[in-house]
Amino acid sequence: MTLPLNLGPELEAFRLMVGTRLAEVMPEDIRREALRGYTISPEEHRRRWQGILNELGGWGCPSWPKAFGGPGWSAAERQIFEREYTLLGAPRLPLLAYAMLGPAIMKFGTEAQQRAILPGILDGSIMVCQGYSEPNAGSDLASLSARAERRGDSYVLNGSKIWISNAEMADLMFGLFRTGQGEKKQEGISVLLVPMKIPGVTVRQIRTFDGGSEVSEVFFDNAVVPADAVLGEEGQGWTLAKIMLSYERLGTAEVSQSLLYLNELKQIAAITQVGDAALIDDRSFRQRIARVEIDLWALDAAERQVVAAEGSESRTAPSVLKIRGTEIQQEILELKLEALGLDGLDAEGILPRPDYPQTPHDIAKVCFNMRKTSIYSGANEIQRNLIAYAVFSGKA
Ligand SMILES: Cc1cc2nc3c(=O)[nH]c(=O)nc-3n(C[C@H](O)[C@H](O)[C@H](O)COP(=O)(O)OP(=O)(O)OC[C@H]3O[C@@H](n4cnc5c(N)ncnc54)[C@H](O)[C@@H]3O)c2cc1C
Repeated sequence: MTLPLNLGPELEAFRLMVGTRLAEVMPEDIRREALRGYTISPEEHRRRWQGILNELGGWGCPSWPKAFGGPGWSAAERQIFEREYTLLGAPRLPLLAYAMLGPAIMKFGTEAQQRAILPGILDGSIMVCQGYSEPNAGSDLASLSARAERRGDSYVLNGSKIWISNAEMADLMFGLFRTGQGEKKQEGISVLLVPMKIPGVTVRQIRTFDGGSEVSEVFFDNAVVPADAVLGEEGQGWTLAKIMLSYERLGTAEVSQSLLYLNELKQIAAITQVGDAALIDDRSFRQRIARVEIDLWALDAAERQVVAAEGSESRTAPSVLKIRGTEIQQEILELKLEALGLDGLDAEGILPRPDYPQTPHDIAKVCFNMRKTSIYSGANEIQRNLIAYAVFSGKA
């Protein structure tokens, strides 16, 4: 099942081309591991897969222009690629690297930063983490206190970050640090590009309730980086952070990923027996699937409108997409968990099948893991505040 895309002949040919190429080049071990749940994908797979996509012409950074090694696709082509890519069960693309940091370096970075970092994002040799949150600065991010003190040609970093995704495998952090004091707490903040494997940087992984450890605390103890590690201007960090967060929110509507989860939900409901009948034939369960599917169609239509109006800088659209995208995705995942019932606690159960590598345990793990999506990248409550502010101040 797929949502109707109403493509003309050229885009349909493009869709066939990317779908076929991706299926041809994806190694079986990477596909099976990714289908079990992307958080499980080992570092080696992520780097290898990014390298394979790069050889196709920068496909691992689908929004990048040709001038920086990307495929130079239009918005419509990118959306088609993203749908084909996700439905194939391919490993998640490194969103923080290609959709947030990459475009920011293209726009605000020096030539030296562009040369040093962008090729590594493309070929998977540089993995990136985002160092914003701190123990007392999450939603209230401007209260951050990690410091970068200028000493001659260097900055000396002290303080800590928390909930940093994939910090243990990252080569580079784009982090927010206080480089000065202003009248407002949003002032005096800079974005620094910090190599992760230098003296004075320590990563401590956090065990999460899905059994994984994808997030970490990161400690800075007199870590030294050169003065040219600043992205953009010193003190421009708050503006840059807001720009980069709005890039990320557009990706977090996650329509294609939800579609994949919806397809999986239907497969599970079809092979789960309730008495003599399959769960998919239960009227009330079917209605719940139908309702969430309709919501997903509506979200898909909304997202396509936003993509078509690219550049119009709507202040509310990214927040609306993020809220609805995460709500719908979590609803689908909860239905999956419900369909599994007690099998969700079992490592064996009704799955896996020869053609389908997920165990019930994997599915439950993904359901629990994806609780995060309404928290990170600006919690949904904060998105609602942003919408309310924009609407009531007449700036929507
Ligand atoms: C799995 C995961 C991965 C993450 N990855 C990263 C990462 O890679 N890099 C990074 O920098 N950060 C990351 N984060 C951190 C994330 O951005 C923060 O958790 C988030 O911003 C919320 O901050 P907090 O946890 O301090 O909660 P708090 O800000 O303390 O919020 C607690 C609750 O209060 C609500 N709340 C707070 N203020 C308001 C308000 N003004 N109005 C209404 N409600 C409010 C929030 O919505 C939330 O429900 C990650 C988080 C998770 C869970």
